Amino acid sequence: MDIQLIPLESGQTRQPPAQDLGFCLHFANRMFTQRYSKGRGWHDARIEPYGPLQLAPSTAVFHYAQLIFEGLKAYRRPDGHINLFRPMENMRRFNNSARRMAMATVDEEEHLEAICRLIELEHNWVPSLPDATLYIRPTMIALDDALGVHASATYLHFVIVSPVGPYFKEGFSPVPVYITDEYVRAVRGGVGEAKTGGNYAASLYAGEDARRRGYSQVLWLDALEHRWVEEVGAMNICFVYDNRRIVTPPLDGSVLPGVTRKSVIELGRHLGYEVAEEPVDVHQMLTDVKSGRITEVFGCGTAAVIAPVGKFGFHDEAIIINGNEPGPVAHHLYQQLTDIQFGRAPDPFGWTHTIRVNGQ
Ligand SMILES: *Cc1c(COP(=O)(O)O)cnc(C)c1O
Repeated sequence: MDIQLIPLESGQTRQPPAQDLGFCLHFANRMFTQRYSKGRGWHDARIEPYGPLQLAPSTAVFHYAQLIFEGLKAYRRPDGHINLFRPMENMRRFNNSARRMAMATVDEEEHLEAICRLIELEHNWVPSLPDATLYIRPTMIALDDALGVHASATYLHFVIVSPVGPYFKEGFSPVPVYITDEYVRAVRGGVGEAKTGGNYAASLYAGEDARRRGYSQVLWLDALEHRWVEEVGAMNICFVYDNRRIVTPPLDGSVLPGVTRKSVIELGRHLGYEVAEEPVDVHQMLTDVKSGRITEVFGCGTAAVIAPVGKFGFHDEAIIINGNEPGPVAHHLYQQLTDIQFGRAPDPFGWTHTIRVNGQ
């Protein structure tokens, strides 16, 4: 891939913050961009100074939300080099999202190569603080500047990167989750499988409603019966029965196929747990939590890796899970996954992609 490197001008070089990284508050000095037009295909690949885009108010993405994104992280290894975790999974999902949103697809190998080049140049933005990472946000937006409702003929693909602090600031602690049977995230045949902006805009109202009730995330049920568990916030969800059997809802068209979910399934089996992808009935699930058959509940996604759920709210009832403490299975998976991601433990699956940094 031919990537033009646009030099930073003096005054455009910022240093990453030394601490208190927060979540994606500061962006590295450079970004990757390339453009697409029907006929020419992808062209004008660049790594250039991070900065504002100039777009007409009529640009299609602002009106009809034809946009997709990805989220993955770069991890600082003990030897100073940098790991990506299963990045080709994200490259493939980016294209699956693009196809669903009637957008142009990108070359998956070249997309990864562009990300690696960007991280090589911005390697000092990958934090060395414990549990801190560099979040990578590939994005594609529709660029046509006309208001007709149809798939755009032009696109902008960009990648920006931003340091993030530890997800659990006060240690590995459970989150309270409100089960909504009023609002839904996605419906089979819709775009729930795609990482597209509208899914998140559509989830905000229910998220705020849950927060007003004292919960920090929403448990989403299926759109047709309001009965089958789908996801928690922007994470996939797992239930642990009797400390040894992990169950997660199947990918049936309205669940986002998470890379962490897939890794929990594969790693869980490797570690000797029984793992099943099965529909979970919310009423049976709550009965099983109350009877103690379900010993743990946790969300899984790139941001938190594993996020234990300590309490469910449903209508006016509050149901405590495992005494509102993180359980041993969540802990075990969190430890094993993060050890592989940060390169602290051997990677028997070949999941990590190491970027070598000069001088390390
Ligand atoms: C991104 C995302 C996930 C988790 O996917 P990972 O690849 O594990 O980060 C789960 N659900 C939704 C809705 C998401 O957007």
